Amino acid sequence: MPTTSPRLDRMALRAQFPALAQEVGGHPLVYLDNAATSQKPQSVLDALAAYYEDDNANVHRGIHELSRRATTAFEGARVKLAKFIGAPDSAELVWTRGTTEAINLVASSWGMDTLGDGDEILLSSLEHHSNIVPWQLVASRTGARLRYIEMDEQGRLILDYLPELLTDRTRLVAVSHISNALGTVNPIREIADQAKQVGALVLVDGAQAVPHRRVDVQELGCDFYAFSGHKMCGPTGSGGLWARRSLLESMPPYQGGGEMIRMVERDTSTWAEIPHKFEAGTPNIAGAIALGAAADFLDEVGFNAIAEHERELLSYALERLDDMGGINVYGPTDLDERSGVISFTMGDAHPHDISTILDSRGIAIRAGHHCAQLVMQHFGISATARASFYLYNSTDDVDHLIEGLASVKEIFGPA
Ligand code: PMP
Repeated sequence: MPTTSPRLDRMALRAQFPALAQEVGGHPLVYLDNAATSQKPQSVLDALAAYYEDDNANVHRGIHELSRRATTAFEGARVKLAKFIGAPDSAELVWTRGTTEAINLVASSWGMDTLGDGDEILLSSLEHHSNIVPWQLVASRTGARLRYIEMDEQGRLILDYLPELLTDRTRLVAVSHISNALGTVNPIREIADQAKQVGALVLVDGAQAVPHRRVDVQELGCDFYAFSGHKMCGPTGSGGLWARRSLLESMPPYQGGGEMIRMVERDTSTWAEIPHKFEAGTPNIAGAIALGAAADFLDEVGFNAIAEHERELLSYALERLDDMGGINVYGPTDLDERSGVISFTMGDAHPHDISTILDSRGIAIRAGHHCAQLVMQHFGISATARASFYLYNSTDDVDHLIEGLASVKEIFGPA
């Protein structure tokens, strides 16, 4: 059995995640649903509690000590997260509830303001619904047209057709950095370089990338980058949208309310500077501060160690699944082209049954279409079972998964 990376002391790491210490149904929890959401380390839980216990106040408006502290921590977290994703300027990072809200912000603001009849939005058939449906909504209201980059039999985008798909009507290319359904890692720089040649903007759904690898929005060459805090050890309801300053400045507000205005008259208002122009109402203050703690935590572990560890787990798990036989794994076969997500089917066993049987052994995986029905349609299936890894998983977890799947096989018979 391979050992995990020496640079990542998994036992010490795991001990920092209180939720992982529990038993489920009399079995130690084996948490393999990280693509849906990650567990949270103690430092993040402490940051949440510290805000509410010590500094609880609204940000930006109050001229009193608690409000000053809350504002300093809230804006400090913005600076931290901007740096974390390679943004040159923290004003370019807008706090959102997560990836979904970030994409909806761009669709509602930039999309509704800019798109017109016959304009084209180029998506991919690998996308999560949150990078499809907002564009459908905008297309139906503006007359814009959706086009798709298709994928091959391994779930990799077929970029050979990109020059034909990109036209002088293409206004936006919106693609995921890493697919949540298959783990496919998309070559964003290559796509962005081609998109730029026709003057299209590029939006990247980074929900599955920011938790697992060092992201540098400038190196990627994109214009918008969306991510979620809860998949990267941070709290639910936290996340962000990065966009270039000139773009954010040119875009109309997304929602109206307090915080986002400069001056309100009876019939009109003027807007606050970015990023506040896009942050109407009281924000998720505790969430942003704790997301800052999550970024510190991941920085401390280091993305080289995280990536190496996840790759070892992926390689070990794929090998064991292959040895077992009767398992159909979807996604790229080249480990350089995929992340720690394993989507699979097992003969006649429905993914929900697989998940239920594993749950009875304390093993948490996900079953369903993973909010990626176009991916399921591509493979002619309705659902897969999905195991997804994070920094605290181990080869022991993989062994438990394999034992669990062996019991599924016993119930359903060989595939
Ligand atoms: N895109 C991808 C690739 C995802 O995996 C997810 C979450 N499953 C989302 C978007 C949506 O993220 P959230 O629900 O955090 O807004």
